[in-house]
Amino acid sequence: MIRADVAGLAYRGRTASIGFARGPFIRLRAGENAARTAGSPSDEARALRDAIAASSEQIAKLAAAAGGEAAQILEFQVALLEDDDFLDPILAGISEGAPADAAWSSMLDEQIADYNAASDEYLQARSSDLADLRDRVLRILRGAEKQAPRIPSGAVICADDLPPSHFLEIDWSGGGGLALLRGSPTSHVAMLARARGIPMVVQLGALPNAAMALLDGESAMLELDPSAEQIALFERRREAHRKSRASARAILRRPGAIWRGERIKLLINIQRVEDLDHTDAQYADGIGLMRTEFLLSAPDGMPDEETQYRTYDAVLRWADKRPVTIRTFDAGGDKPIAGFTPQGEANPFLGVRGLRLCLARPDVFKVQLRALARAAVRGNLKVMFPMVTVPTELEAARALFGDVVADLQGAGISALLPELGIMVEVPAAAMAIADFRSSFFSIGSNDLAQYLLACDRSNGALDALVDPLHPSVLELIARTAEHGARAGLPVSLCGDMASDPRCIPALLHCGLRELSVNASALAQIKQTIDRISHGGADG
Ligand code: PEP
Ligand code: MG
Repeated sequence: MIRADVAGLAYRGRTASIGFARGPFIRLRAGENAARTAGSPSDEARALRDAIAASSEQIAKLAAAAGGEAAQILEFQVALLEDDDFLDPILAGISEGAPADAAWSSMLDEQIADYNAASDEYLQARSSDLADLRDRVLRILRGAEKQAPRIPSGAVICADDLPPSHFLEIDWSGGGGLALLRGSPTSHVAMLARARGIPMVVQLGALPNAAMALLDGESAMLELDPSAEQIALFERRREAHRKSRASARAILRRPGAIWRGERIKLLINIQRVEDLDHTDAQYADGIGLMRTEFLLSAPDGMPDEETQYRTYDAVLRWADKRPVTIRTFDAGGDKPIAGFTPQGEANPFLGVRGLRLCLARPDVFKVQLRALARAAVRGNLKVMFPMVTVPTELEAARALFGDVVADLQGAGISALLPELGIMVEVPAAAMAIADFRSSFFSIGSNDLAQYLLACDRSNGALDALVDPLHPSVLELIARTAEHGARAGLPVSLCGDMASDPRCIPALLHCGLRELSVNASALAQIKQTIDRISHGGADG
């Protein structure tokens, strides 16, 4: 809690999705249903299988109605329900006499605890998907029909955390927002909220009950039982936000962003082909970063060459003549991949990750390089390597890529070596930038700041310290931009600071003329550049 006003209490959390909601404050609590009375082991095993079948059907219906990314998230749950390795230990418990609900929940509780104990936020966030699955099957096993909570239209919904399927069951057509006591901006539900424009604030801590709430996703504030004065201020902020969004979208349709007479290229970051469905994506100058490591967490395991080729080809076809920069797998650190990233490293952020891992695993890396070499003939493709520390790593990757292209061409398959570049995100690479034989550079300010400031980027307790505007970060950005200008090589920045309007003046003054941003930030960043070029304080 940050303030106790005469009439209303205000709380600050972390923004997960920008936007404003004013409405009744509704708390959702996980329902406790009575345990079931156990039958024979075979009855219990049948009851579990029936509950699983019913749950799969419910989830499949939700996925079909939701489509897109939401469907992918729910498919993860269906895949788990169909996985024998997952179900076998539960059925073994039942055969030893455990009631179906107890066997099911103790196994799920164990897995949820493992995910919660994980040090990175991404894995912690996956625990709410498992909790959702646990509760859905339990409700059916315990005979409690799913009771969709009655939620008034436009309500600010408060929960400890919220699983994606509950989010999808709520009717958001009348607006509303989400205030979570825990939760994470990187969770699946946060992704859904952003995609649907539902304001969401997480990590609010303990909250009292209240009748009415104001949720401001821009400043990460929740105000409970607000005074008339608080409401008036909130409405002013909401109106300013609405006007700013409308004018930003109008600017998006105009030709490119210009600052001091120079064209500023605005590209987008994507993870999947579906990200190109965002309505603003079409206005981008190209794709500045495709994070391919997310392809590795597909429910059916590592994608083969053909699957990867089709994915890269789809992105190139979408882009037409515009440039597409695809980054090779950047697994490890905050993005562990079972069966690929090393287990038990004491410090995975400083471990065998990014290009280091790919060079150590040519079996996996060559499949990706083959798919990329084949895609390179289809459009304006550039390939970049993540977490490069020294020039020999780039040269090793180039040599491997060259061999792959020669093999493909030798077999009569059309393939090309695309332009190769590096991410500048390890301070050592930024400081020795002139030593790299790279055709272009893309600054990964998220990792650059993490390593320069010695702050784990996924540790919420260090939010204030991991500041991308720290002079040390800006100095390395400026050095990289200067090197690019001197050598006539393009330099862009694809870390999160490019999507943050507050960072834009500093980035332009550092010499950057190419930024790669989240599609949802494209309009606002273009508007910010427009403002500062038309007499804004930082112009
Ligand atoms: C970065 O580090 O800034 C970056 C763009 O890569 P990622 O966030 O995927 O590590
Ligand atoms: Mg990075």
